[in-house]
Amino acid sequence: MTITDTDSDTCAAASDRPCLPYWQDKPCPPWCRMAHRDEDELEDRGHQGSAVRLTLTMEEALVDRDPTPVVEPSDLVVYTVQKFREQEPHLLLMRDEKPCARLTLDEGRRFAEILADAVRQAERQPAAR
Ligand SMILES: [Zn+2]
Repeated sequence: MTITDTDSDTCAAASDRPCLPYWQDKPCPPWCRMAHRDEDELEDRGHQGSAVRLTLTMEEALVDRDPTPVVEPSDLVVYTVQKFREQEPHLLLMRDEKPCARLTLDEGRRFAEILADAVRQAERQPAAR
């Protein structure tokens, strides 16, 4: 009789394949910062990169006055995300902890170009007389 150890703590030692939860069919992409487990809920099954946060100084801050005032500057956060079974990652933009846009990688690249062009135009100095 052969007994196969299926305990997830020993699966890496038993093969060349890294330990993965049963629902994950391939290793994480290099940008993923999540720890995945067999017991992850369906909506939590996916890869997520580190948050890239930008404080928005021209926007109204969030103020909680009870019991003592706490000021949270408004912010924009970008995550790289790839949900379970999606073919490629996308960018998730969050404004004050609420999702505000999802961009494909092509859309993200184009948006970055549009912003860079707008900044260059805004910084253009008038011609000297
Ligand atoms: Zn992952």
